[in-house]
Amino acid sequence: MRAEGIETARRILCVFPRYTSSFGTFEHAYPLTDGVQAFMPPQGLLLIAAYLPANWPVRFIDENIRPATREDFEWAEAVFVSGMHIQRQQMNDICRRAHAFDLAVAIGGPSVSACPDYYPSFDYLHVGELGDATNELIARLARDPSRPEQQVVLKTSDRLAMTEFPIPAYELAEVKKYFLGSIQYSSGCPYQCEFCDIPGLYGRNPRLKRPQQIIAELDKLRECGVTGSVYFVDDNFIGNRKAALDLLPHLVEWQKRTGYVMRLACEATLNIAKRPEILEKMREAFFVTVFCGIETPDPDALKAMHKDHNMMVPILEGIRTINSYGMEVVSGIIMGLDTDKPETGDALLGFVEDSQIPLLTINLLQALPKTPLWDRLERDGRLVNDDDGRDSNVKFLLPYDQVVESWRKCMEVAYQPEKLFARYQYQCDYTYSQRIKVPVSPEQKSWANIRRGLIMLRNIFWKVGVLGDYRKVFWKFALGRLRRGDIEGLIGPALIAHHLIMFARAASVGQQNASNYSIRLREASVPAE
Ligand code: SF4
Repeated sequence: MRAEGIETARRILCVFPRYTSSFGTFEHAYPLTDGVQAFMPPQGLLLIAAYLPANWPVRFIDENIRPATREDFEWAEAVFVSGMHIQRQQMNDICRRAHAFDLAVAIGGPSVSACPDYYPSFDYLHVGELGDATNELIARLARDPSRPEQQVVLKTSDRLAMTEFPIPAYELAEVKKYFLGSIQYSSGCPYQCEFCDIPGLYGRNPRLKRPQQIIAELDKLRECGVTGSVYFVDDNFIGNRKAALDLLPHLVEWQKRTGYVMRLACEATLNIAKRPEILEKMREAFFVTVFCGIETPDPDALKAMHKDHNMMVPILEGIRTINSYGMEVVSGIIMGLDTDKPETGDALLGFVEDSQIPLLTINLLQALPKTPLWDRLERDGRLVNDDDGRDSNVKFLLPYDQVVESWRKCMEVAYQPEKLFARYQYQCDYTYSQRIKVPVSPEQKSWANIRRGLIMLRNIFWKVGVLGDYRKVFWKFALGRLRRGDIEGLIGPALIAHHLIMFARAASVGQQNASNYSIRLREASVPAE
């Protein structure tokens, strides 16, 4: 549904801020593609754009693709911004630029909802999810779009049911310029891991869309030109297991109807390995990747962070089980935990080898506001505030330099090209081989898609296979794939591996942040051009 009963039309400019260069946004892979410039279409801002009254003209700009221009600001009557903590500096910068045109600027999304005081210059703070605060913001702008004299804080107390959510305005985004498509089925997570802000922000009882909404969104993504991978951004896809089971047959049916046009990915807790009935349906729906927040292989550490559910099956066994359904596991890992010891880095590298997981996002512990971890560290005087020289706001129990050094070593060793491609080879042999054999969809057979594949192959062969300094390792892997005629199995790992290798090299010499949430924002943001 849309906001209703508003007659005065306002021109709204929605601006999504640039990401700071990070491990999880894959920007080193973009030059190998056919023109990808950004990670995923931002759900929140596109949702708000779709919710605005039907007669309100909306422009959407993702500054990872192009910056908002003078002409955009001159066109607008008000500006909406949304983003995560890591984009804080960029969001404040958009506000400054909009104010130069005397425009009212509203900010919503996860960062302002957790930390309103990060955004003193904005005219409107939208705290919380889509709901009564959104209606109030729209009504105020309809009455008067000029800047209010003082900052206005609007807090959602009555959230709009997700069953009432409109389809995000994917048509406003240049979806073909994104690395992945995105979609959301649920919000919230029943667990309470100490470091995580999801339960505090979105609740422990997952809220849900209807399966029919997801199917309509997939249809729209397809209409807009998305054909590759689509990522369910849900905090935990099995936060409500019954809901996941309700949705999956619809996804299977949709994939069959459309010729398996999309490869699906999601985030889920590792105890999904105990649910063969869910895994089997995910296999049929062509889920190919599951991100699991494994965090650490150390059982004492998992207990201490209240992530006992990761131990419902032995971790390695859980990973193997998921792999056996054709799904590659991507893992989140945290270093700098109170339970870490001097030998934790080596233990972690052992886990990387044993698990054969190619892609692990290894971060230093960061205390996020609205988490039990934040409260505990604040009580203990272990939060470091406003210290731009550090990659974490936590006073670790081990010396800071030792923890950072250990992180750098893990990055350096885990992403040595030989080791990384060996893990991908394992995935080819034991995971990808377990996937259902899908027909070639009309989209895949299209000239546009063939051309896209050829461009990527040309870029990969030239930039990695000829010019790259790890070309020998690459060719050993690539020739194996080529001999089997597995072009997709070559392109996907080659793109991701290139990013991981490049990023890890920069990280190991101190040129990258050791935390995706770090408040230390480096100069080298993802370029907007
Ligand atoms: S399971 Fe994941 S989403 Fe849920 S509270 Fe833990 S870290 Fe957060």
